[in-house]
Amino acid sequence: MPRLDARHVFVGISALDGLLAAGAAAHTLAAAPVVGAVVATQAALTASCLCPRCPWLGSVITRVTTTRSEVALTFDDGPDETLTPRVLALLAAHDAKASFFCIGTRARAAPTLIRAVARAGHSIENHSWHHSLRFALFGSRRMAREIDDTQHLLADLSGRPPSCFRAPAGFRNPWLAPLLAERSLRYAAWSRRGFDTVDPSPARVARRLAPGLVPGAVLLLHDGHNARDPMGRPVLETVLPRLLKELQGRGLRAVDLPTLLADPDAPHPSSHEAAARPATPTPRVFR
Ligand SMILES: [Zn+2]
Repeated sequence: MPRLDARHVFVGISALDGLLAAGAAAHTLAAAPVVGAVVATQAALTASCLCPRCPWLGSVITRVTTTRSEVALTFDDGPDETLTPRVLALLAAHDAKASFFCIGTRARAAPTLIRAVARAGHSIENHSWHHSLRFALFGSRRMAREIDDTQHLLADLSGRPPSCFRAPAGFRNPWLAPLLAERSLRYAAWSRRGFDTVDPSPARVARRLAPGLVPGAVLLLHDGHNARDPMGRPVLETVLPRLLKELQGRGLRAVDLPTLLADPDAPHPSSHEAAARPATPTPRVFR
Protein backbone atom coordinates (compact mmCIF):
# COMPACT_ATOMS: atom_id res chain seq x y z
CA MET A 1 0.00 0.00 0.00
CA PRO A 2 1.55 3.36 -0.98
CA ARG A 3 2.53 5.67 1.86
CA LEU A 4 0.37 8.68 2.54
CA ASP A 5 1.98 11.89 1.43
CA ALA A 6 1.67 15.05 3.54
CA ARG A 7 0.78 17.03 0.43
CA HIS A 8 -2.12 14.68 -0.23
CA VAL A 9 -3.41 15.39 3.25
CA PHE A 10 -3.22 19.14 2.78
CA VAL A 11 -4.85 18.85 -0.66
CA GLY A 12 -7.49 16.57 0.81
CA ILE A 13 -8.27 18.98 3.60
CA SER A 14 -8.46 21.85 1.13
CA ALA A 15 -10.79 19.84 -1.11
CA LEU A 16 -12.92 18.99 1.88
CA ASP A 17 -13.00 22.66 2.77
CA GLY A 18 -14.21 23.41 -0.76
CA LEU A 19 -16.96 20.80 -0.63
CA LEU A 20 -18.09 22.00 2.73
CA ALA A 21 -18.07 25.58 1.54
CA ALA A 22 -20.35 24.57 -1.36
CA GLY A 23 -22.59 22.69 1.01
CA ALA A 24 -22.64 25.65 3.30
CA ALA A 25 -23.98 27.83 0.50
CA ALA A 26 -27.04 25.58 0.27
CA HIS A 27 -27.37 24.61 3.90
CA THR A 28 -25.65 27.40 5.72
CA LEU A 29 -27.09 26.78 9.13
CA ALA A 30 -26.66 22.98 9.08
CA ALA A 31 -23.09 22.99 7.74
CA ALA A 32 -21.74 25.87 9.78
CA PRO A 33 -20.55 23.77 12.77
CA VAL A 34 -18.83 21.26 10.44
CA VAL A 35 -17.11 24.02 8.48
CA GLY A 36 -15.94 25.49 11.74
CA ALA A 37 -14.51 22.14 12.85
CA VAL A 38 -12.63 21.60 9.57
CA VAL A 39 -11.23 25.12 9.58
CA ALA A 40 -10.15 24.64 13.19
CA THR A 41 -8.50 21.30 12.30
CA GLN A 42 -6.65 22.86 9.38
CA ALA A 43 -5.51 25.78 11.51
CA ALA A 44 -4.30 23.42 14.26
CA LEU A 45 -2.38 21.27 11.75
CA THR A 46 -0.71 24.31 10.18
CA ALA A 47 0.15 25.74 13.60
CA SER A 48 1.66 22.39 14.64
CA CYS A 49 3.88 22.26 11.55
CA LEU A 50 5.14 25.77 12.23
CA CYS A 51 5.59 25.38 15.98
CA PRO A 52 9.05 23.87 16.61
CA ARG A 53 8.47 23.11 20.29
CA CYS A 54 4.85 21.95 20.28
CA PRO A 55 4.18 18.27 21.17
CA TRP A 56 1.14 17.92 18.89
CA LEU A 57 3.13 16.22 16.11
CA GLY A 58 4.92 13.76 18.39
CA SER A 59 7.25 13.77 21.35
CA VAL A 60 9.69 16.71 21.42
CA ILE A 61 12.68 17.27 23.68
CA THR A 62 12.61 20.87 24.86
CA ARG A 63 14.15 20.38 28.29
CA VAL A 64 15.13 17.43 30.43
CA THR A 65 14.23 16.64 34.02
CA THR A 66 17.50 15.90 35.76
CA THR A 67 19.01 15.82 39.22
CA ARG A 68 22.42 16.72 37.78
CA SER A 69 23.62 20.30 37.36
CA GLU A 70 23.82 20.05 33.57
CA VAL A 71 22.58 21.89 30.51
CA ALA A 72 22.95 20.73 26.91
CA LEU A 73 24.66 22.91 24.34
CA THR A 74 23.58 22.30 20.76
CA PHE A 75 25.04 23.78 17.56
CA ASP A 76 23.15 23.61 14.28
CA ASP A 77 23.85 23.83 10.56
CA GLY A 78 27.55 22.86 10.51
CA PRO A 79 30.14 21.83 9.98
CA ASP A 80 31.78 25.05 8.86
CA GLU A 81 35.48 25.33 8.04
CA THR A 82 35.88 28.56 10.05
CA LEU A 83 33.35 28.46 12.87
CA THR A 84 33.36 24.79 13.86
CA PRO A 85 37.10 24.64 14.75
CA ARG A 86 36.70 27.86 16.74
CA VAL A 87 33.74 26.39 18.66
CA LEU A 88 35.73 23.20 19.34
CA ALA A 89 38.63 25.23 20.74
CA LEU A 90 36.35 27.27 23.02
CA LEU A 91 34.57 24.15 24.29
CA ALA A 92 37.91 22.46 25.00
CA ALA A 93 39.18 25.54 26.85
CA HIS A 94 36.17 25.36 29.18
CA ASP A 95 36.03 21.57 29.47
CA ALA A 96 32.56 21.64 27.93
CA LYS A 97 30.78 19.20 25.66
CA ALA A 98 28.05 19.80 23.08
CA SER A 99 25.90 18.22 20.38
CA PHE A 100 26.41 19.23 16.77
CA PHE A 101 23.31 18.89 14.58
CA CYS A 102 24.98 18.55 11.19
CA ILE A 103 23.66 18.97 7.66
CA GLY A 104 24.45 16.00 5.40
CA THR A 105 25.71 17.98 2.42
CA ARG A 106 28.00 20.05 4.63
CA ALA A 107 29.32 16.96 6.40
CA ARG A 108 30.09 15.35 3.03
CA ALA A 109 32.06 18.48 2.05
CA ALA A 110 34.03 18.56 5.31
CA PRO A 111 34.50 14.99 6.59
CA THR A 112 37.64 15.83 8.57
CA LEU A 113 35.63 18.29 10.67
CA ILE A 114 33.07 15.62 11.55
CA ARG A 115 35.88 13.31 12.62
CA ALA A 116 37.43 16.14 14.68
CA VAL A 117 34.12 16.83 16.45
CA ALA A 118 33.70 13.12 17.25
CA ARG A 119 37.32 12.76 18.41
CA ALA A 120 36.80 15.65 20.84
CA GLY A 121 34.02 13.65 22.51
CA HIS A 122 31.03 15.67 21.32
CA SER A 123 27.91 14.07 19.94
CA ILE A 124 26.99 14.39 16.28
CA GLU A 125 23.30 14.53 15.48
CA ASN A 126 21.12 14.55 12.38
CA HIS A 127 19.87 17.85 10.91
CA SER A 128 18.71 16.48 7.49
CA TRP A 129 20.62 16.17 4.23
CA HIS A 130 19.76 19.42 2.42
CA HIS A 131 18.38 21.57 5.26
CA SER A 132 15.51 22.55 3.01
CA LEU A 133 13.15 25.08 4.54
CA ARG A 134 10.40 23.20 2.65
CA PHE A 135 11.15 20.06 4.70
CA ALA A 136 7.69 20.17 6.33
CA LEU A 137 6.11 19.96 2.87
CA PHE A 138 8.00 16.79 1.93
CA GLY A 139 6.23 13.46 1.66
CA SER A 140 7.32 10.56 3.85
CA ARG A 141 9.63 8.95 1.23
CA ARG A 142 11.57 12.13 0.57
CA MET A 143 11.70 12.90 4.28
CA ALA A 144 13.03 9.39 4.97
CA ARG A 145 15.79 9.88 2.37
CA GLU A 146 16.81 13.16 4.03
CA ILE A 147 17.09 11.40 7.38
CA ASP A 148 18.68 8.16 6.20
CA ASP A 149 21.34 9.62 3.90
CA THR A 150 22.51 11.92 6.69
CA GLN A 151 22.33 9.15 9.27
CA HIS A 152 24.50 6.80 7.20
CA LEU A 153 27.11 9.43 6.36
CA LEU A 154 27.45 10.71 9.93
CA ALA A 155 27.66 7.16 11.29
CA ASP A 156 30.38 6.31 8.75
CA LEU A 157 32.41 9.43 9.53
CA SER A 158 32.04 9.50 13.30
CA GLY A 159 31.77 5.78 14.08
CA ARG A 160 28.45 6.26 15.87
CA PRO A 161 24.98 6.85 14.42
CA PRO A 162 23.19 9.97 15.65
CA SER A 163 20.49 9.39 18.24
CA CYS A 164 18.61 12.67 17.78
CA PHE A 165 17.09 14.53 14.85
CA ARG A 166 16.17 18.20 14.49
CA ALA A 167 14.20 19.44 11.47
CA PRO A 168 15.39 22.47 9.47
CA ALA A 169 14.08 25.56 11.29
CA GLY A 170 12.17 23.12 13.49
CA PHE A 171 9.30 22.77 10.97
CA ARG A 172 7.71 19.28 10.94
CA ASN A 173 4.67 17.50 9.56
CA PRO A 174 2.62 14.52 10.79
CA TRP A 175 4.80 11.95 8.99
CA LEU A 176 8.04 12.79 10.76
CA ALA A 177 7.35 11.21 14.17
CA PRO A 178 6.62 7.70 12.78
CA LEU A 179 9.75 7.87 10.60
CA LEU A 180 11.89 8.78 13.61
CA ALA A 181 10.30 6.06 15.74
CA GLU A 182 11.13 3.42 13.08
CA ARG A 183 14.77 4.53 13.30
CA SER A 184 14.96 4.88 17.10
CA LEU A 185 15.70 8.58 16.69
CA ARG A 186 14.44 11.16 19.18
CA TYR A 187 13.19 14.55 18.09
CA ALA A 188 15.11 17.42 19.69
CA ALA A 189 13.98 21.03 19.89
CA TRP A 190 15.35 23.44 22.51
CA SER A 191 14.55 25.40 25.67
CA ARG A 192 16.18 28.60 24.53
CA ARG A 193 17.63 29.86 21.28
CA GLY A 194 20.06 32.72 20.78
CA PHE A 195 18.94 33.84 17.30
CA ASP A 196 22.66 34.13 16.62
CA THR A 197 22.15 33.74 12.88
CA VAL A 198 20.21 37.00 12.62
CA ASP A 199 21.05 39.22 15.59
CA PRO A 200 24.36 41.13 15.30
CA SER A 201 24.37 42.03 19.01
CA PRO A 202 26.31 39.53 21.17
CA ALA A 203 24.80 41.13 24.29
CA ARG A 204 21.24 40.46 23.12
CA VAL A 205 22.06 36.91 22.03
CA ALA A 206 23.64 36.19 25.42
CA ARG A 207 20.63 37.67 27.25
CA ARG A 208 18.33 35.21 25.47
CA LEU A 209 20.39 32.27 26.69
CA ALA A 210 21.93 32.84 30.10
CA PRO A 211 19.61 34.61 32.59
CA GLY A 212 17.81 32.25 34.95
CA LEU A 213 19.19 29.08 33.40
CA VAL A 214 18.30 25.92 35.29
CA PRO A 215 19.55 22.32 34.99
CA GLY A 216 18.04 20.37 32.10
CA ALA A 217 17.88 23.28 29.65
CA VAL A 218 18.73 22.72 25.98
CA LEU A 219 20.40 25.73 24.34
CA LEU A 220 20.46 26.34 20.59
CA LEU A 221 23.27 28.16 18.78
CA HIS A 222 24.74 27.79 15.29
CA ASP A 223 28.22 26.87 14.10
CA GLY A 224 27.08 26.64 10.47
CA HIS A 225 26.57 30.36 9.96
CA ASN A 226 26.36 33.38 12.20
CA ALA A 227 25.39 37.03 12.25
CA ARG A 228 28.36 39.43 12.31
CA ASP A 229 28.85 42.01 15.05
CA PRO A 230 29.70 45.64 14.19
CA MET A 231 33.41 44.61 14.05
CA GLY A 232 32.59 41.96 11.45
CA ARG A 233 33.15 39.00 13.77
CA PRO A 234 30.66 36.12 14.17
CA VAL A 235 28.58 36.86 17.29
CA LEU A 236 29.25 33.32 18.53
CA GLU A 237 32.91 34.19 19.13
CA THR A 238 31.83 36.70 21.79
CA VAL A 239 28.73 34.91 23.07
CA LEU A 240 30.12 31.41 23.58
CA PRO A 241 33.04 32.22 25.93
CA ARG A 242 30.73 34.50 27.92
CA LEU A 243 28.07 31.78 28.14
CA LEU A 244 30.55 29.05 29.12
CA LYS A 245 32.01 31.26 31.84
CA GLU A 246 28.51 32.05 33.13
CA LEU A 247 27.64 28.35 33.25
CA GLN A 248 30.81 27.57 35.19
CA GLY A 249 30.09 30.41 37.61
CA ARG A 250 26.69 28.91 38.38
CA GLY A 251 28.04 25.39 38.77
CA LEU A 252 26.29 24.20 35.60
CA ARG A 253 28.14 21.72 33.42
CA ALA A 254 27.77 21.95 29.63
CA VAL A 255 27.13 18.50 28.14
CA ASP A 256 25.95 16.95 24.90
CA LEU A 257 22.27 16.11 24.54
CA PRO A 258 22.58 12.28 24.87
CA THR A 259 24.44 12.80 28.15
CA LEU A 260 21.68 15.09 29.43
CA LEU A 261 19.10 12.51 28.36
CA ALA A 262 20.91 9.63 30.05
CA ASP A 263 19.51 7.98 33.15
CA PRO A 264 20.15 10.43 36.01
CA ASP A 265 21.19 7.56 38.27
CA ALA A 266 23.77 6.26 35.84
CA PRO A 267 27.42 7.10 36.57
CA HIS A 268 28.55 10.21 34.76
CA PRO A 269 30.78 9.45 31.77
CA SER A 270 34.16 11.15 31.85
CA SER A 271 35.34 12.97 28.74
CA HIS A 272 37.50 10.00 27.82
CA GLU A 273 34.69 7.51 28.21
CA ALA A 274 32.36 9.74 26.20
CA ALA A 275 34.88 9.95 23.37
CA ALA A 276 35.39 6.19 23.42
CA ARG A 277 31.71 5.29 23.71
CA PRO A 278 31.16 2.10 21.68
CA ALA A 279 29.34 2.37 18.39
CA THR A 280 25.79 1.02 18.33
CA PRO A 281 24.30 -0.63 15.24
CA THR A 282 22.90 1.68 12.60
CA PRO A 283 19.11 1.80 13.03
CA ARG A 284 17.15 -0.32 10.61
CA VAL A 285 16.25 1.68 7.52
CA PHE A 286 12.80 1.68 5.93
CA ARG A 287 12.50 3.20 2.49
ZN1 LIG B 1 19.19 24.49 10.91
